[in-house]
Amino acid sequence: MYNFFIDKEDANKNLRYVKGSDYNHIKNVLRMKEGDTVLISCLNKSDLCKIISFGEDFVLLEVVEENYNDTALPLSVYLFQGLPKSDKLELIIQKAVELGVDKIIPVQTNRSIVKIDKKKDNKTARYNTIAESAAKQSKRNSIPEVIPAITFNEALPLLKDLDLLIVPYESHNGMEGTLSTLRELKKDMKVGVFIGPEGGFEQKEVDTLSCLGGKVISLGKRILRTETASITALSMLMLYAEINL
Ligand code: SAM
Repeated sequence: MYNFFIDKEDANKNLRYVKGSDYNHIKNVLRMKEGDTVLISCLNKSDLCKIISFGEDFVLLEVVEENYNDTALPLSVYLFQGLPKSDKLELIIQKAVELGVDKIIPVQTNRSIVKIDKKKDNKTARYNTIAESAAKQSKRNSIPEVIPAITFNEALPLLKDLDLLIVPYESHNGMEGTLSTLRELKKDMKVGVFIGPEGGFEQKEVDTLSCLGGKVISLGKRILRTETASITALSMLMLYAEINL
């Protein structure tokens, strides 16, 4: 079933309005008709809606079944991603959205090969387009945001809003901490996952995150690529939460 995202201004009681490129897609590409049904996602929920009519530049629908497709994780997940090369970040964004992440914060750490150029941020719009496409494909109830890349120090104040910060570190040994950290997870928690870039973390970065309450864990004996580590850590979190919370 097709899934479209609308702003809260386009939802009025049990009526929904789809406009813009999605209007054109429904009308002229999918050639949908009155009576056809689609999923409309708005305000973190997805309702089953039936097409009532087509206006000049909008589709009018009414809600048939609220919360028809609740795909949200039982907790909020924020990925702090050590800034990797751009193509890797695109893959990480796509997989992180499929795995239920709520927000992606690219972070320039000391060993990030790619450096932030705030004057020339021509990538964030593309990254959010990738997030929207992945959210549609994976039937998310909302579109996770990718914010413009920030420095390690700029990321630190954002950590205080978290209930738990998980720091997979390539030099950390033993899996006991990994299991005990997972066991700390509770429903509705705000959980951060901080992954280093291709060059990895510097020890002083890990020490800083640890001092802020970050749980330093191992993802196993092998050294994973940054994209593999992000996907592994988010998959572990998602599966544990879906099974236990
Ligand atoms: N340059 C580092 C090296 O060669 O040892 C590897 C860094 S790794 C490519 C990028 C990030 O993935 C790490 O900073 C860490 O966050 C995560 N990572 C990779 N393997 C890991 C492991 N076995 N345990 C925990 N984290 C890992």
